[in-house]
Amino acid sequence: MTAKCSGACASPPFRKRSNTTPYGDGWRYCKQCDRAINYSGLYCPCCRLRLRARAR
Ligand SMILES: [Zn+2]
Ligand SMILES: [Zn+2]
Repeated sequence: MTAKCSGACASPPFRKRSNTTPYGDGWRYCKQCDRAINYSGLYCPCCRLRLRARAR
């Protein structure tokens, strides 16, 4: 139903490091919330959208 960010995924932005991918260490990216989340689940805790992890 409600597919918008409620802030539950709020987390500090991942560190920008040229040699490190943000998806390497439990980071997922929520396209709906438009932010990276350090979360181990497959779905965003707030918008329930499937999180994008490192491809395989
Ligand atoms: Zn969110
Ligand atoms: Zn989300």
